[in-house]
Amino acid sequence: METRTEISSLGEFGLIDHLTKNIEFTNASSILGVGDDAAVIDHFGKQTVITTDMLLEGVHFDLMYTPLKHLGYKSVVVNLSDIYAMNATPTQITLSIAVSNRFSVEALEEFYEGVYAACERYQVDLIGGDTSTSRSGFVISVTALGEVNPDQFVQRSTAQKGDLVCVSGDLGGAFLGLTLLERERQIYLENPKIQPDLENEQYIVGRLLKPEARKDIIAFLAENEIRPTAMMDISDGLSSEILHICKQSSLGCVLYEEKIPIHEDSRMAAFKFGLDPTACALSGGEDYELLFTIPQSEYDKLVLNEQISVVGYMTDAAEGSHILTKGGNKFRITAQGWNAFKDQ
Ligand code: ADP
Ligand code: MG
Repeated sequence: METRTEISSLGEFGLIDHLTKNIEFTNASSILGVGDDAAVIDHFGKQTVITTDMLLEGVHFDLMYTPLKHLGYKSVVVNLSDIYAMNATPTQITLSIAVSNRFSVEALEEFYEGVYAACERYQVDLIGGDTSTSRSGFVISVTALGEVNPDQFVQRSTAQKGDLVCVSGDLGGAFLGLTLLERERQIYLENPKIQPDLENEQYIVGRLLKPEARKDIIAFLAENEIRPTAMMDISDGLSSEILHICKQSSLGCVLYEEKIPIHEDSRMAAFKFGLDPTACALSGGEDYELLFTIPQSEYDKLVLNEQISVVGYMTDAAEGSHILTKGGNKFRITAQGWNAFKDQ
């Protein structure tokens, strides 16, 4: 039988010690970590980038279909994605949790296994956090720090007219994974005897439960001396994110539906659910890909990387923000994406 250790048997300090005792730093900038009133970091003349995110049970994740290890991994990755989106290198994280006694020490160990797996993969150090009791659900808050050479960070507000709009990887998969798991959850609640049917859906489920931050794209851009003019990560769907870049850069854009990268498995899943794959890419969230703009003169350097798609270009603000469909129609992009502009 699986053992269940009550959190109360360790106490708060015992628990923190238990969960953090094996930490070994990988970054020279991590000077002092868990165990004091605050951590100390030294970025040796570089600039520091910092971001924080909160994840609430029932709002951002459902423990019914989210394994704790995956949740730990994802909690870290979504923050690292924000650091990369600044063109910076993540170096440290702090992790705060609020848990009820519904959780055992073993459950938290599983969660931290995912956290440490992400730390190792992305070479970041866990340097602190906070632990509290929750009377409702599981609450997770991660803060990530990163470093960047002075003034090399890339904002959302600095795209230029004529720049190419680029997207990494493919879009819509995480939303389709969520749609599938939500559907299976409903079926299960109505009839617990029915086992979930997830066969052939590993790709979309993986996109939701185990996203990766695009460290490789940032490395590629640096190696090829491509400096994006503007950049952000895609956590809320392409429509919403490109509108942020347009608004903050005081520009418009044209996107081409046929250029939007969608994985074959996502396309198949969309058709199965009666959804438009492009709508999923535009409005679905949690893909954690990068959206960035580059000068047209850099186009030739991009062909080396099949993980980067050019999906459009930036225009004057007066031209608005539009998408040209495969059928030759032109629609205004709205934050809600496809469904909203289908009616126009
Ligand atoms: P304080 O009373 O100063 O808030 P805590 O007892 O909460 O101190 O934390 C003690 C040390 O353990 C600090 O270094 C803190 O950053 C770290 N810590 C607390 N909770 C966590 C956690 N869940 N994960 C990692 N480190 C933690
Ligand atoms: Mg504390």
